[in-house]
Amino acid sequence: AYLDRIAAQDGTIGAYLHVDADAALAAAGAVDAARARGEELGPLAGVPLALKDVVVTEGVPTTSGSKILAGWRPPYDATLAARLKAAGTVLLGKTNMDEFAMGSSTENSAYQVTRNPWDTDRIPGGSSGGSSAAVAAGLAPWAIGTDTGGSIRQPAAVTGLVGHKPTYGSVSRYGLIAFSSSLDQAGPMTRTVLDAALLHEAIAGHDPLDSTSIDSPVPVLAEAARRGAGGDLSGLKVGVVTELGGEGHADGYDPGVLARFAETVALLESLGAEVRQVSCPAFDLALPAYYLIAPSEASSNLARFDGVRYGVRVGDDGGRDLDEVMALTREQGFGPEVKRRIILGTYALSSGYYEAYYGQAQKVRTLITRDFTTAWDDVDVLVSPTSPTVAWSIGARVDDPVAMYAADLCTLPASLAGVPAISVPCGLSDGLPVGFQVMAPALADDRCYRVAAALE
Ligand code: GLN
Repeated sequence: AYLDRIAAQDGTIGAYLHVDADAALAAAGAVDAARARGEELGPLAGVPLALKDVVVTEGVPTTSGSKILAGWRPPYDATLAARLKAAGTVLLGKTNMDEFAMGSSTENSAYQVTRNPWDTDRIPGGSSGGSSAAVAAGLAPWAIGTDTGGSIRQPAAVTGLVGHKPTYGSVSRYGLIAFSSSLDQAGPMTRTVLDAALLHEAIAGHDPLDSTSIDSPVPVLAEAARRGAGGDLSGLKVGVVTELGGEGHADGYDPGVLARFAETVALLESLGAEVRQVSCPAFDLALPAYYLIAPSEASSNLARFDGVRYGVRVGDDGGRDLDEVMALTREQGFGPEVKRRIILGTYALSSGYYEAYYGQAQKVRTLITRDFTTAWDDVDVLVSPTSPTVAWSIGARVDDPVAMYAADLCTLPASLAGVPAISVPCGLSDGLPVGFQVMAPALADDRCYRVAAALE
């Protein structure tokens, strides 16, 4: 049924970069045959799934939205892809994304435009916009995205989905094409909170192949979602972050987004939560800090795309030396946003400017983490809008990188501090979905699910 919907609708939506119907039907058939033989099946046996194209999949084309990886078929599975296979899921295909996950609208994909199913003249968010559009259009029941500065939560918010960025280190990064290694995390994008919890549980847990993987038990999340669905939040202490759309900080926020946010905070109170305002002054600096740290790490991570080890090689037809081939490959293989980040990151890391830019940004990162730590003395969760605006029109921000970056205002603090954060739908503004963000202390992802389920 999903393959039929993809065939009928993905020409308009543009969610998928790669679909292999035969492979999906064969995988589904294998599950059916195992069931008929009475074999023990994985917990998600037969459930279809879409993966963001940043996830390395054995034998299946993987591009990270970049021309430089066109035609590459990886020789191994990312840990999360292997875990989902073992759980019995059936891969429908790989979804479109901003090139190397750099962007908030999926317009930086080297391949195609992806449209928001709510209004096909609008963006589906980014960088996991293929995943959000696929799930919102019913072209997959759920999908995996990755979030470095908001790329699960913001596309989920603007397409009316649930999206969760796990605690940094709790989902393996092995086999995710690296953007900014100290920030990247994979997580679920789904239609319900319980689905998100189930998908998250299937990918979580320690992985010796990822040096930053936390060695702690797989979190119990579905139970938290079921408990939260009862709607009772009595005793829960909720902090509303002033700096994220509150008094004196509402510039750039849609009035409709702030109205839905205020109504949802009132709903939390009516469910028994104790709500107070919390000031996190360093959050005002999250945007500039992130846009130094993420490009710095990216400039280093993307050095591996040299025309030798992976994918495309340009100009290797005799008469050119290695440096020239590398330069030509990178010139033609990377898109403009990727080049902008590499140049910015290389500059920020250069010896004369390191302290002034990268060093300062790291200090701000520490201040942001401290704001969270101080907040946890008083509250169990912090809340904010997920995105300052609803989905904008395709093309509206492509010539203005700073306007594009502003979409990340609310999602960046949790990324920089490595704490978990969920986006759950909280109504419509101008007929378009609005997301509500719930942030929790590291390894307390279950609180995000509990609160989100109560609001669903
Ligand atoms: N929009 C942010 C960026 O462009 C975040 C992207 C992401 O989370 N991958 O860097």
